Amino acid sequence: MKINFNHVSKQYGNYPVLKNISMELNSGNIYGLVGPNGAGKTTLIKLLTTIDVPTKGKIYLDGKDIAQDPTCMRGNLGYLPQDVNVYPYLTSVEYLTYFAGIKGIDKKTIKPHVQELLELFNLTPHVKKKLGTYSGGMKQRVGLACALLGNPQIIVLDEPSVGLDPEERLNLRLLFEELAKTRILILATHIISDIDLTAKQIIVLKKGEVKYTGTKDEFVKSYDGDLEEAYMHFVAS
Ligand code: ADP
Repeated sequence: MKINFNHVSKQYGNYPVLKNISMELNSGNIYGLVGPNGAGKTTLIKLLTTIDVPTKGKIYLDGKDIAQDPTCMRGNLGYLPQDVNVYPYLTSVEYLTYFAGIKGIDKKTIKPHVQELLELFNLTPHVKKKLGTYSGGMKQRVGLACALLGNPQIIVLDEPSVGLDPEERLNLRLLFEELAKTRILILATHIISDIDLTAKQIIVLKKGEVKYTGTKDEFVKSYDGDLEEAYMHFVAS
């Protein structure tokens, strides 16, 4: 699949939050979307996930304008928002089954699919407990499982490793690599080290502008391979 941003701008009132963004994203890649707080990452994700529409410009998925035809994006999308709001009185099975229904997944396949995702995120031992009793990391893993419901081809994760311990982060990194082989994976974060080992492609946002988009190797070339240093240069300049 292919996503094209074509001169996309977004204003809230008179305030420009995203300015004239053009770029192309392709299956088979992990994109690290980075930028300081307030740079416009969440707004860009809102446009991409059809929660909001651009003020100017268009976003195309395989040539289709997603503002005109939001279902073409929604039917292919898995999304982890920044603050996963789990329903405290549901168990993880109930929660995922509920969202599988909303996503329109075939009823016969929901149960095995949910079991498979619970296992993938090591949640099987906790399925009988209510989500209100889960730790932050466990809730995050439920959110990640939810984002993968229905085998989406475009996966957008806002701060995916929040609350996870080092082992869980490593597992997640390996999973991302596997998923991205055939999909578009976008990881948004303001913690640059989070994407150092994961993303091969980088999108640097600053004050609503794309300051860099391309490979990480190219990005760090003039900085002795030091991603943090390269990033600091781009966001400071
Ligand atoms: P990031 O996710 O990179 O921290 P955001 O996309 O959340 O950045 O915000 C970018 C800028 O847009 C911020 O200055 C924020 O205050 C402003 N902004 C975001 N959403 C709105 C809104 N609904 N109305 C007005 N301003 C907004």
